[in-house]
Amino acid sequence: MPLFLPTDLSETLALLADHPEARIMAGGTDLLVRLRAAGRTPGTLVCLERVAELGRIEALETATGPAVRIGAAATITDLLRSDTVRQRLPLLHRAASAFAAPTVRNAATIGGNICTASPAADTLPALHVMNASVELASRRGARILPMPHFVTGPGRTALEPDEVLTGVVVPVPRIFTIHHFEKVGQRQAMAIAVVSLTAMLAVEDGRIRDARLAWGSVGPTIVRCPEAEAILRGSRLTLTALTEAARAARRAVAPISDVRATADYRRQVAGNLLLRLADLPGRKPGS
Ligand SMILES: Cc1cc2nc3c(=O)[nH]c(=O)nc-3n(C[C@H](O)[C@H](O)[C@H](O)COP(=O)(O)OP(=O)(O)OC[C@H]3O[C@@H](n4cnc5c(N)ncnc54)[C@H](O)[C@@H]3O)c2cc1C
Repeated sequence: MPLFLPTDLSETLALLADHPEARIMAGGTDLLVRLRAAGRTPGTLVCLERVAELGRIEALETATGPAVRIGAAATITDLLRSDTVRQRLPLLHRAASAFAAPTVRNAATIGGNICTASPAADTLPALHVMNASVELASRRGARILPMPHFVTGPGRTALEPDEVLTGVVVPVPRIFTIHHFEKVGQRQAMAIAVVSLTAMLAVEDGRIRDARLAWGSVGPTIVRCPEAEAILRGSRLTLTALTEAARAARRAVAPISDVRATADYRRQVAGNLLLRLADLPGRKPGS
């Protein structure tokens, strides 16, 4: 089982080009668990843990405004400890807070979470609603893809065999006043999401100027519902508007039944989570 431990990106890309059979390992919290469950030996692994440049989190100015660039090997603990993430990307910070337990967070990376392409991956809905893009690199060059073009299905991505995900660029959401993430699991800690809702609302003078919504674990990938967003846009943030949007959301989701929950339960809860936006702490009813 060859294990390569490159120390910079160019060495990583050379290894991937020279070893097409190799798999990338970041924290190993998903990859090793899967390999063990399948009774398979890992084969050739290119491990990212010593590539320091992939672990950086930095604020930047782009042509379209402020953004945060997060290196693919930044761990969930790094996200939680970063003032830049807490202040500029509160939704991602909340998703990281609901992620597993500290031992897993210390190893699990944001790049690994994105590349698992799981509909239950906790950072994905936040990255979707914030219109994040991923940066990919190989010895052939670099490219940038919007999140929905990268994650193409459950466990499927647009990553080529010689490519590595180097980072994710997240535009700082500026007009949004409500940043909400809620995850329903089978227990409080270490739970994979049975359903999750991520919502960003821009509320001005009691009226919703803009709404972005994404659900986890209720379809093959993260589910957006443009119809529910359109219902909320221009409405007051009331239970009546949210109930109508929740109906649209229940039509849009496509959950499955598994060991954690039935499809019917997931569909119902996907709508119910939206109703919670009516009574978030600190909000006056109807405001
Ligand atoms: C006990 C436990 C609890 C968990 N709880 C949660 C939870 O609450 N929420 C949640 O979302 N997930 C959870 N997970 C799943 C897992 O921890 C996450 O998906 C994690 O983010 C994976 O990151 P990693 O760095 O460990 O990835 P790895 O296991 O190293 O890799 C996962 C996949 O991504 C690929 N990959 C990794 N990094 C890159 C890169 N930079 N470029 C290209 N390919 C790459 C690997 O080749 C592999 O296919 C849990 C797992 C366990 C074991």
